[in-house]
Order: sequence, then C-alpha cells, then structure tokens
Amino acid sequence: MGELAITGGRRVLAERDESLFHWPIVNDAMRAAQAAVLEAGNMSGTDIARKFESRFAAWQGSKYALSHNNGTNALNAAMYAVGLGPGDEIICTSVTYWASCTGALSLGASVVFCDIDPNTLQMDPKSFEERITPRTKAVMVVHYMAHPAPMDEIMAIADRHGIAVIEDVSHAQGGRYKGRRLGTFGRVAAMSLMSCKSFAIGEGGMLTTDDPEIFKRAVIFGHYDRIIDVCTDEEMKDVKNIPWGGLKNRMHQTSAAIGLEQLEKHDREIAEIDRAMKYFWSGISDVPGLSMIYPRDEGSDKAGWYASRFLYDPAAFRGVSNVTFSDALNAETGGDFSFGCNMPLHLSSVFFDVDIYGHGRPTARAFLPEGVDIRAESGSLPVADSINGRVLGEPWFKTCDPAKIDPYIEAVRKVAANFEELLPINDTTPVLGGVALSKRKR
Ligand SMILES: *Cc1c(COP(=O)(O)O)cnc(C)c1O
Repeated sequence: MGELAITGGRRVLAERDESLFHWPIVNDAMRAAQAAVLEAGNMSGTDIARKFESRFAAWQGSKYALSHNNGTNALNAAMYAVGLGPGDEIICTSVTYWASCTGALSLGASVVFCDIDPNTLQMDPKSFEERITPRTKAVMVVHYMAHPAPMDEIMAIADRHGIAVIEDVSHAQGGRYKGRRLGTFGRVAAMSLMSCKSFAIGEGGMLTTDDPEIFKRAVIFGHYDRIIDVCTDEEMKDVKNIPWGGLKNRMHQTSAAIGLEQLEKHDREIAEIDRAMKYFWSGISDVPGLSMIYPRDEGSDKAGWYASRFLYDPAAFRGVSNVTFSDALNAETGGDFSFGCNMPLHLSSVFFDVDIYGHGRPTARAFLPEGVDIRAESGSLPVADSINGRVLGEPWFKTCDPAKIDPYIEAVRKVAANFEELLPINDTTPVLGGVALSKRKR
C-alpha cells in the first residue's frame, strides 16, 4: 500500500462537491424566459431569436449575427457563405472537434489539415502557410480549448494569399486576442452554444460577420423564412422561399430566450471561472513537468476555460503516462481531471478515402483535378500525432472558492511528489483522443 489513493492510500478529497462544477448556471430570469416562450405560442417564431442576435452582435462587436439550431450548422453555413464549393480546399487544424470542418465535404470541397503549436495547441501559422495551394479558398481557425489562435500571423498570411478566414469560436465565446473580441477577425465566425460549452443555451449556434453579403448567403442557405428579408423583389422571383442548402437552421426560441439571459451574465461568469482557474494554478505552478497553457500577449485571455488543457511532460515523471497520472489524480479527488484532447482528424479516412455521396471515388477528391493527392497535402503532422500523450485537462471550476479548490491543488502536489508509486502500474498505451475516450473504464 502506498501514499497515493490509486495504490491504496488515503484520498485527498473524501467526497466530490458537485456544486463546484455544476453547469450551466441557471437563474430565475432564465426559468421565466423559458416559460414565457412556452406560453406565448410562438416557439418556432423568430422574434426572440432576432433580439438575441442583435444583442449578441453588439456584445461581440460584430455587425450581424444569425442564430442557428446548432454550432455545426452555423459553421457549415459560414463555409458556404465564403463561397467554399466543389474543388476548393479549406485548411483546418487536425486537432479539433470534427464539426469545425467536416461540413466542407458536403459542399464538394476538400479539407487539408495543418499542425498545431505544441505549447498553445493553436494553429501553427507556418504549417498553415505551407499547405496553401491555388485551390485554397478558406481557413478554419479554431480558438481551441478557450485559447486564442495567433490571429496577427494568420490574418497576415490569409490576406497575402486572398484566403477567407473563418473563426470557430465554439470554445471561447467572449474571449479576447490583444484586446479585441474573438470572432471579429475573420470574414465570418461561427460557434456552438450547446449545453456543455461555456456559453450554454441548450442546443444552438451563432454565425457572426460584418459583411452583408456573407449574412445574406447564410440566410439563403438555411433560413427559408428570412430569405425575403435579404433578397430584392427581383431576386425573390428566382429564389422564392426555398433555402438553397435544403436546410432548416432556425434556432428554437427557448434557446434564444435563455441566450438573452446568458448574455446578461456571461462576462461575469467567465471572470469568475478565470479567477478560480488562476487560483488553482497559483497553487501548482512550481510543480516541474506541468505547465499552464495561457496566452502571453497583453489583452489576450482564456475566456471560460472550456475544456482547458495543460502541458504534461512524461520525462519529468520517468515516463509515467498522462493517462496514469490523470487516473492517479482522479483517485485522489473523485474525478474531473482528464488526459489528451481531440483525436487528430487527419487519422480518419472520412477526409481521404470514403465515398460518402456515391461519386465513384472518395468524396474528399471528388472535384479535385486528377492526380491531386489530398492526403499528401496534409502531409506529416508531428505535433497533432503526439499531443494526446502530452496534455492533461484541469478540473473546470465554476466558482472561485479557495477552500474547495485547495484539495485539488493538494492532489496534484501529492501525485507529483509520489509519482514513483505509479511506475509499476503505468499504462503507456498510445492515446489517440482523450475527449472521446475519457469516459473509458479501467
Ligand atoms: C461543439 C463544437 C462544434 C459543434 O457545435 P454543436 O453545437 O455541437 O453542433 C463545432 N466546433 C467545435 C470546436 C466544437 O467544440
């Protein structure tokens, strides 16, 4: 029997306190707003959704916002809106959630993956630039796990090559890069507002832009009842009320009503989370082998700390894997630490080999010129291939209650100090994606 709970010792935290983590935070205003939608008899209307859009746009600092029934569809509309189509390529980081780019395939486009920076987990601008071809139409920039992507470098490259920048803000609503809100850098941004994200309204998504043409295309793509708002009488003769994408992307009004209330408290909530997470780090920042991921630029932040990860160096613990280290932490605290991040998308054959639509050849190259090797364009992505073995996820504290966070600090210090107890039980199975696999049982 050792010191560590995983080897039979006594746990640091006898019982997990759910209140520290409960999400989303629901208040009476949200309850009332939701009930009002039910009573009003207009659940499929757009009056509340439009109000939510205009307040959301003002809050973020964008001219237009268009609500969607989920983030996936908002992102797909954004890709359509910038004109991504057959034979075009979109560059996206390999390490992200599938919805960042998979919809490109439905538009007849191909996805080329680039690598991430091993210290920030964000798009590596050099890797992005290396993958540009004459067919590159757009780049999908994910502010991954709440950290801003390096927008100065990315915008400079994209402008030089005439590439449309789309921001996926699903992990960082309200975040800032050098003082400016995320989602206001590219031609268009889209994001999830689903219930596990830090801006949680149930199921929902938002598309934002300053460009009326982008807004119009997004409406025509998937908002049949609003086409009349964006088209002239002349255009309506052809368009009628038929969404060109064959899609219906309308947000449910209860989501919009909750969203209006979330806007009232979002900045406050993310500030509280930021205090809590920084308090946690103030207690462990001197532990060798563990490093916080946080932007260094003045005016940049990590809004909401959604799915936040930190760097774990197995060499500092004689090869103890992040999986074993995470298991040891969870044995002390009853959960909330995790290992790895998203499975690298370039490992999926969906983007290279699968004939999804019956074109008689892989969908990913259905419209590319003969001889283009889409897999080779992504090439080797050494950071994406190895990052899942080198990151851990922090507990996601929603309130800054030092007395309740202290046991988590103690757990980290205890496991780090006694890591040699883990050597005999070390699990070194390669990790492909912690987010997808973190619910696995040992
Ligand atoms: C959650 C998520 C999405 C998809 O949003 P949904 O609302 O679940 O459809 C897209 N991109 C990223 C990075 C996400 O994490």
